Amino acid sequence: MTVRHLLILGGTTEARRLAAALDGEPWPGLRVTSSLAGRVTRPSLPPGEVRVGGFGGVDGLARWLREHEADAVIDATHPFARQISFHAALAAAATHVPLLALRRPGWVAAEDDRWHDAASLEDAAALLPGLGHRVFLTTGRLGLAAFAGPALHGLSFLVRSVDAPEPPHPERMTVILDRGPFTLEGERALLREHRIDVLVTKDSGGDATAAKLTAAREAGIPVVVVRRPPVPEGVAVAADVPGALAWLAERRAGRLT
Ligand code: NAP
Repeated sequence: MTVRHLLILGGTTEARRLAAALDGEPWPGLRVTSSLAGRVTRPSLPPGEVRVGGFGGVDGLARWLREHEADAVIDATHPFARQISFHAALAAAATHVPLLALRRPGWVAAEDDRWHDAASLEDAAALLPGLGHRVFLTTGRLGLAAFAGPALHGLSFLVRSVDAPEPPHPERMTVILDRGPFTLEGERALLREHRIDVLVTKDSGGDATAAKLTAAREAGIPVVVVRRPPVPEGVAVAADVPGALAWLAERRAGRLT
């Protein structure tokens, strides 16, 4: 069975790249819809058809797939967007629509890195008092509540996010509103200017935000790395856009069911 309408669950660089690769030839007769959660005020839009906003849970997503006759889904959401990925797995199973997760590989520590693994933002927060006083927090504006508690009131935070954070957030906080990609020179300068002595990051992977890890390594600064949630069981995974295109091409050719 060929694929006529692909839904891309987006909000990432890879999702935009995938939509761009599918925008036109050599994919005749393929309709592509990209879906964004609608979290950021000025999102970077992918080319082609775009819808914005939640589907209304698993049932809402399954309904959308049926109503729009979508016959393949590529979940290209951020590795930490756990809920939508689980919803996609359940809705795809309920509607018998094939699903691929496009997940960039996680980061790997180099020899000189001083990384500390954390299973969650709360875990990361618990590690901080033993590691430093001036924290560069790059885990996004959602989830700042984990760093708001009285145990961390003695620490100062430099928070970088796309949109302005709302309470609850760390008591002593400087905010930088910015969106990647970030350069190594820029990251070095930030660490220096704000006298950062510990960095907190999610294991997002990819190049766009990796420069902070190099800058931290050069400066000998410890990094708390929040590990990823798992991809839902049974869901096929591609590591990059070419891998996702190959999966789609196989389905279009009717070689996979
Ligand atoms: P999440 O917790 O996994 O999802 C929460 C709810 O948001 C979902 O149940 C769904 O609502 C809606 N949603 C999420 N992604 C959607 C999409 N692409 N299209 C339509 N609805 C979507 O998601 P999140 O972590 O808040 O991330 C939201 C978006 O930001 C994602 O698109 C993700 O790719 C992007 N993003 C996330 C991070 C991160 O660190 N989490 C970083 C960069 C970008 P319904 O249940 O109503 O369908």
